[in-house]
Amino acid sequence: MTEENCSILYGHTIITMNEERQVLKNAAIKIVGDRIKEIGTKEELILSNPEASIIGNDNFLVIPGLINAHQHLTGDRLIQSCIPSEIEDTEAIFDWSVPIHALHSPDDDEISATLSLAESARCGITFTVEAGTVAFPEMVLNGFEKVGVGGAIGSWGWDVGNGPYVDSVDGVIERQLQVLEMTKNHSSVKGWVTLVGHNLMSDELLQKASNLAKENSTNLTFHLSPHAGEVSQYLEKTGMRPVTYISELGVLGSHLLIGHAVHIDDSELEVLINSKTAIASSPWAYLKLGQGITKFGKHPEFVSKGGRLALGCDTENAGDTKDLLLTARLFSGLMQEAKLGLDKPTAHYALELITIGAAEALGLKEEIGSIETGKRADIVLIDTSGPSWQPMAPDPVMQLIWGASSSDVNSVVAGGKLIVEDKKCKNLDELSLANEAKSKQEKLLKSAGLDPSSYWPVTTY
Ligand SMILES: [Zn+2]
Repeated sequence: MTEENCSILYGHTIITMNEERQVLKNAAIKIVGDRIKEIGTKEELILSNPEASIIGNDNFLVIPGLINAHQHLTGDRLIQSCIPSEIEDTEAIFDWSVPIHALHSPDDDEISATLSLAESARCGITFTVEAGTVAFPEMVLNGFEKVGVGGAIGSWGWDVGNGPYVDSVDGVIERQLQVLEMTKNHSSVKGWVTLVGHNLMSDELLQKASNLAKENSTNLTFHLSPHAGEVSQYLEKTGMRPVTYISELGVLGSHLLIGHAVHIDDSELEVLINSKTAIASSPWAYLKLGQGITKFGKHPEFVSKGGRLALGCDTENAGDTKDLLLTARLFSGLMQEAKLGLDKPTAHYALELITIGAAEALGLKEEIGSIETGKRADIVLIDTSGPSWQPMAPDPVMQLIWGASSSDVNSVVAGGKLIVEDKKCKNLDELSLANEAKSKQEKLLKSAGLDPSSYWPVTTY
């Protein structure tokens, strides 16, 4: 009897990220449907499954699909690298990003998300958490389905100020409910409750959103404390620091993933760890926006004390790339710099933070994050035949984090399907996507009255 959609995947080494962190040689993975069915000896699995399709070769290092825990999929993507770096971070957000978001048509949302997720897939990312600024969730869901990756989405959620999609508490909650309903039976995309956060949410909205997430056994995410200014605003308004304040409101817990929490003091660090609240850290964003991560950030300490942390790439205004391996390398360096007396190399922590550790922080440890029987078949094949990989190091994790690049990703399997092969997205016409993105960019900048070229004139001969 032949099994449906059966394939055997292999490489020279498999980094499983399972409980024992096993690294396997001469092994292969049997995939049936969207699941990992069996892990065994390469020759035996190939011989006993003669009809299976074979994915892999002896040049590949095999790792679990990567998890991006904080990513805006719309807005900035279509004007990437257009926002001048010399302006203040708040100006970049409110004079550039927010107006572009406000102008997004449903079609813009789909193109933007498809482009973001295609880029992500080619970097080995098979699960992306949208960070909470989606106007048309059904169009973003189309993007996930077109590329073939998994993730979590919500909808714009704020009830303070005059930004796009600002709504009443009930209006925001209703938008979130619609996304939960839309994704209820989806095999790979989950509905989350997403607020913008910062100081743009009322106490009532925050508490209702938290309850909504808990009632639906899903997660809540929002932004908090990326820069010192936000701490001052909270202190002035409430007399308390941001994390302390929301702790008093009773919203901390394992269902919550806070984007950033960079500017926290020791007592906030403790309360986050004790409440099992997770953090999504996007270190490139803090550096690009100059938000003080190296002076004030405590994310390495948070990880070393057992805090639930995952890594993200945030948005093009604050990072420009979906390169999670590069993000993990940066985080490894930040841990190295923090001199914490760790029990293993920082590279190993870093790989955990984009695989099994991220899955744990998102409450999805049973489903994704490692190569184990029964889990979703999200797997990345990295080509190690190039000169930068020679000679191979005894510790493949060390070499992967400190030496590899996302451009080494050759193929990606998500939900059991080969979605990237030889560095190309299989399900997409990448050229027509690029052309559409270019015309969308011109239209959006023109409509918003923004002209990046005035910041760096180019001479045309
Ligand atoms: Zn963000």
